[in-house]
Amino acid sequence: MTKLIFEKSKEGTDGINLTDIPVSFDFIDKKYLNYNNESILPEMTELEVMRHFKELSDKNFCIEKGFYPLGSCTMKYNPKVNEILASLEGFTEIHPFQADEDVQGALKIMYNLQEALKEITGMDAVTLQPAAGAHGELCGMMIVKKYFETIGEQRKNVIIPDSAHGTNPASAAMCGFNVVEIKSNENGLVDIDSLKSVLDNNTAAIMLTNPNTLGLFEENITEISKLVHNYGALLYYDGANMNAIMGYTNPGLMGFDIVHLNLHKTFSTPHGGGGPGAGPVCVIDRLKDFLPSPVIEFDGKTYKRQYDIKHTIGKMKAFYGNFSVLVKAYVYILLQGKELKNVSANAVLNANYMMNKLKQYYLLPYDKKCMHEFVLSGEKQKDAGVNTLAIAKRLMDSGFHPPTVYFPLIVHEAIMIEPTESETKERLDDFIDTMIEIAEEIKQNPDLVLNHPINTPVKKVDETLAARHPDLAYKLHSESIV
Ligand SMILES: *Cc1c(COP(=O)(O)O)cnc(C)c1O
Repeated sequence: MTKLIFEKSKEGTDGINLTDIPVSFDFIDKKYLNYNNESILPEMTELEVMRHFKELSDKNFCIEKGFYPLGSCTMKYNPKVNEILASLEGFTEIHPFQADEDVQGALKIMYNLQEALKEITGMDAVTLQPAAGAHGELCGMMIVKKYFETIGEQRKNVIIPDSAHGTNPASAAMCGFNVVEIKSNENGLVDIDSLKSVLDNNTAAIMLTNPNTLGLFEENITEISKLVHNYGALLYYDGANMNAIMGYTNPGLMGFDIVHLNLHKTFSTPHGGGGPGAGPVCVIDRLKDFLPSPVIEFDGKTYKRQYDIKHTIGKMKAFYGNFSVLVKAYVYILLQGKELKNVSANAVLNANYMMNKLKQYYLLPYDKKCMHEFVLSGEKQKDAGVNTLAIAKRLMDSGFHPPTVYFPLIVHEAIMIEPTESETKERLDDFIDTMIEIAEEIKQNPDLVLNHPINTPVKKVDETLAARHPDLAYKLHSESIV
């Protein structure tokens, strides 16, 4: 067990001593300066501090360390060239307040990215501003709201299937809409009769993920789109996992009006630890006057930030969004070039390969060709005494990040696996073999499986205690807070 830095501290030890440097702190308000030196800080040499933090970072699991099949999260490889290019001085040393004519290159990148995303989604206009997928959803819902206000209609309901990502209902509710849930049918798709029974003139929009969170493609999407449009309502597409269809079809062709993308998933930026992301929102022509400002425009000669947008919902974020994430996405798209389509082809191939191998050992509730991910159920294993959570912990001991578990809610003991396109067949086979091994272990000796994890920095935790009485502060520190 790693000791805390405070426990490693030894009185009188220090690294670099700054006290002899003739610097005056007069410019800092006295109340922020602690002259009595009451703060309790660890005392260590510089080398030991570095070792401490390196040791901690080594305990972290990341995509560079192992396979990360976290369903819906698209934990694929983020090419390092993205980072190198995004950290060029020409990008990092510019300031949002610089005049358009000073930053033509940066504006050009954003403009070209907008154009690429229009093509990928089949939409007519784009904002790059939202900082994440859920932020994009909020932006999209604000556009829906303002659209109906502008045409003088009061619509209160947003329809969302029970297979939707959890952020969808949250975003609609944050915008003041009533969330109307519809059930999936026995094939795991939107039940058309349920949809018909809730659609009316009070429907503002339907939010769909296609493929849905079961990894299944909505086969009746054109019928759904007609039904919804007949009532004058809008179709919102959750495009967080665009690696399922990119280059083969697009939300525009399916009849959608608004789409958000997760650049940090599909277009490769490291994410998952709360790092910067981007959730651009793409809309059809009729909704382009509602986008946040500014959008980037090009008149054939110069690029500029356009703030004058007729019915703009305002700002979602300072300036134009997370620029470095936009650069990385643009680099990724350019590097793939005409091969961008293969991203989806490989994601879908990998998922189907794995699904077909594993369905002999784990229950596959919706046994259909999947897209970029699939959802198994651990029910058989639960009957033998090992639930999905324990399977997840057992996987950690073999060096894998567990899949998403207990989501989507419509599958009991759900194990949601997204292998992504960036893995080799050997790596997929490793995971498959381990999953099969676990299924066998559960048959032979379920109690043994329940003992895991044993190789991880943190062993089995008391989930209930951790949730009810989280202990988040180091004692010495919490005692010092008055
Ligand atoms: C990840 C994800 C989101 C939310 O994206 P964030 O960037 O985490 O806010 C929304 N919908 C789907 C389908 C997702 O996979």
